[in-house]
Amino acid sequence: MAEILKTDALIFGGGVAGLWLLNRLRNAGYSAWLLESGSLGQGQSVASQGIIHSGLKYINDGTLNRSATTVSDMPCIWRRCLQGQGDVDLQGTRILSDDYYMLPRNSLRARLLSFLGSKALASKTQRLAPNEFPAFFQGNVKGPMYRIDDFVIDVPSLLAMLCNRQQESVFCIDWNEARLERGDNGDISGLVFNDGTCIKAQQYISCCGGGTESLLRQSGLDVAPMQRRPLQQVMVRHRHTGPVYVHCVSSSIDLTPELTITTHSNKAGEPVWYLGGRLAEDGAGMNANNLIDRARRTLADLFPWCDFDGAEWGTLEIDRAEAKQPDGRRPEDASLVTHLNLAVCWPTKLTLAPALADKVLAHLQAQGIVPSPQTGAAPQFLYRPQVAATPWENL
Ligand SMILES: Cc1cc2nc3c(=O)[nH]c(=O)nc-3n(C[C@H](O)[C@H](O)[C@H](O)COP(=O)(O)OP(=O)(O)OC[C@H]3O[C@@H](n4cnc5c(N)ncnc54)[C@H](O)[C@@H]3O)c2cc1C
Repeated sequence: MAEILKTDALIFGGGVAGLWLLNRLRNAGYSAWLLESGSLGQGQSVASQGIIHSGLKYINDGTLNRSATTVSDMPCIWRRCLQGQGDVDLQGTRILSDDYYMLPRNSLRARLLSFLGSKALASKTQRLAPNEFPAFFQGNVKGPMYRIDDFVIDVPSLLAMLCNRQQESVFCIDWNEARLERGDNGDISGLVFNDGTCIKAQQYISCCGGGTESLLRQSGLDVAPMQRRPLQQVMVRHRHTGPVYVHCVSSSIDLTPELTITTHSNKAGEPVWYLGGRLAEDGAGMNANNLIDRARRTLADLFPWCDFDGAEWGTLEIDRAEAKQPDGRRPEDASLVTHLNLAVCWPTKLTLAPALADKVLAHLQAQGIVPSPQTGAAPQFLYRPQVAATPWENL
């Protein structure tokens, strides 16, 4: 007779959302397995800038909107986890920068917005004296400049840490070898492999990012519409790059930065600037060379003391995958959509992975799903996934 394996929760997708949730569930006493169809975090997570946001960039005209309020608790929650004192143990995760900065462009409106933003998050924002500016800016920028509560983590090391903590529960899945089957009432009755082996769970959870649509469709479960918001990030490696972590705020109507810069390392250990913000949003669908020209001009304008001759450039086209919104804009929070024994998750931001896990745990409790007294044998016949490569590794 075909083998039946049982677990409390079966998670699909091993980006930050799935791996964080796996840790939360197992720390809360649930048995849970995670199945990844490629490499861990291969969609958005390894391509993310790794900024744990404090909410400043979600402020409009100096007032906290709902996104800013939700996000503003997150740095504190992450810091506790990084110190081994939170719901998930992140000790050993690399922090790329403890500090993040905001540089208003030289316009009255940008300065006013930055000032109002700093007031709205007063306890989390500090205006710097010129001698406190990071080395790259000292003597080159007249100010003002702010230190904000954001910080930057190395996402591959985060994913590796989350996976290592639950190594015995993370597996690869090849969808040519397995399918989700439905029961008479439309719920999921099990994950059935071609050899007849079946995994049954109390709750099935999708954390598949951009792969959500096809997972749901192939199972006849079109129950959680999603949206994609495209970006084209720019990468640059050049001899002036000390590490820089800054939002450059322009005079547009909100604090969405004109340029958001984080610094990562390529395979040779050389620093690569990774450029997001308005540049990457406007760059979606643009010819890569034209976007690189625009990035070159923006950097020359912002940092006239730098010489970008001889720099190596690259771009990355990528979609943000989120729960569908009526107006197509960014959701204000992490999203959880439920249908019978299926939960579909999108964190919206890496930063909100803890908030998403809170929502899933609350849902399980509301459904009366409690940890089973006995945990069954794990699907040891499945392979173990690796963490995905970063886009800047080979620049
Ligand atoms: C360029 C960029 C920069 C960003 N920067 C930041 C930032 O600085 N700070 C921040 O807070 N947020 C940032 N974000 C947002 C953040 O990266 C995402 O919200 C977050 O990583 C989404 O995580 P996820 O686990 O839902 O999805 P993903 O990271 O996309 O992971 C989904 C996983 O599911 C797997 N999968 C797909 N289909 C299946 C299937 N059928 N079965 C099994 N597994 C499957 C994939 O292989 C992948 O491993 C950024 C996003 C982008 C695109």
